[in-house]
Amino acid sequence: MALEVAWAPALRDNYIWLLHDPESEETVVVDPSEAAPALAATEARGWTITQVWNTHWHPDHTGGNAAIKAATGCAITGPAESGRIPTLDRVVGEGEAAAIGGYEARVLDIPAHTSGHIAFHLPEAAMAFTGDTLFAMGCGRLFEGSAADMFAAMRKLEALPPETRVYCGHEYTQANGRYALVADPENQAIVERMREVDALRERGEATLPTTIALERATNPFMRAASVEELAARRAAKDAF
Ligand SMILES: [Zn+2]
Repeated sequence: MALEVAWAPALRDNYIWLLHDPESEETVVVDPSEAAPALAATEARGWTITQVWNTHWHPDHTGGNAAIKAATGCAITGPAESGRIPTLDRVVGEGEAAAIGGYEARVLDIPAHTSGHIAFHLPEAAMAFTGDTLFAMGCGRLFEGSAADMFAAMRKLEALPPETRVYCGHEYTQANGRYALVADPENQAIVERMREVDALRERGEATLPTTIALERATNPFMRAASVEELAARRAAKDAF
C-alpha cells in the first residue's frame, strides 16, 4: 500500500508534513514547528505519531518536538547541527537512513541554510523532504553556509529522479516565482507555472509538493550555471 501524505498548516506559512504507512500504521511528522496542529491533524485521521523527522534545527521546524514526544512517546530523528536539537533520539547524516514501515528514507547532507541541514529521500515512494534548502522556484537563505554549499546541495537534489515529489518547509512559491520571472525572463516554463500558482493561491490552496523535474525547469537557483550566478541571484532575491 502506498504511503499517505497530509499536512497541517502552522505559524504563518510553515508546512508540517504528515506521512502515514497504512501497512505498519506508522506515522511520521516532518518538521513540526508546533505540536498542536500536528497532533490535531493526525488525530482527525485516526493516525498515531510514531516518529518525528527534523531537517534542521530552526525552531519553526523543531518547536513541536518535545510536546509531541511527551504526548505520543515517538522517536525523533534529525541532523547533528552542533547539538542544537536537544530533543533528538537519533542523529543521522549522509549515507544513513530512517524508515517508515518498509520504506527507507535515505539521508542527504545538504548544508547551506544551516550547517547541518539534511533531506530525507524515499526512493520507493518517490518523495523527498527538503526543509528550507529547496523550495518551489527558490532556495533557503544562506544563514550558516556559502553559495558554494548551496550550489552543491542543488547538484545533489537535481540528481534525484525527476518524478520525485518534493515537500518543502514553507509556502513561498508565489513570492519565489515573482523573482524567478525576473531572474530568468526568457523561461516560458516559469510563466506557465506562475499562472497555476496564482490560481492555486487565489483559492487558498497549497502549491506543494513540487517535483524535481519542475524545479529543474523553473528554479533559478537549481538552474544557476555557476556558484557566482547562484550567489548573485541569492543576493538579488534577498533584496527583491
Ligand atoms: Zn530554516
